Amino acid sequence: MSFYKKPYHTKCNMKVHGRRKLEDLDYQSLVHKLDKEVGFYIKKTFEVMPGVSRCYTCKTLHDTKEIQWGHFISRRYYAVRWDLRNSRPQCRGCNGPRSGEPMKFRQYLVEDIGEECVKDLESIAMMNGERNMPRETIIEQIKTYKGLNRKFKE
Ligand SMILES: [Zn+2]
Repeated sequence: MSFYKKPYHTKCNMKVHGRRKLEDLDYQSLVHKLDKEVGFYIKKTFEVMPGVSRCYTCKTLHDTKEIQWGHFISRRYYAVRWDLRNSRPQCRGCNGPRSGEPMKFRQYLVEDIGEECVKDLESIAMMNGERNMPRETIIEQIKTYKGLNRKFKE
């Protein structure tokens, strides 16, 4: 192999096979990435003690590994999908078969953040419907949450 070619190719390969930049990902991959970051953040922030979480709607305790990221307003509404006010930990039963327990969820949210805040959330969802969030906003949010989650991974 020629002396001067190798370093060039090594550099080149690193670029090709290195981690893909967020800007190069398609929309669904970006959504998936942000879901992972925010879901992790929610579970960690609401832990009652390390490794233990309480379901927001039925109040039972679970291993954080078993807990899910629940939404008051469906995640189909992108404008509130990653809104922390709309996000709480839920057990599989509440988040799945019990369809998220929206009535209990709303009642506890009102107690938590106040009626005005809950109404604000509802009107954001109503106004935006299921319209997608702009790519740039998602990319920005991924970076923000990656930073916030760092403290949980140390
Ligand atoms: Zn539950």
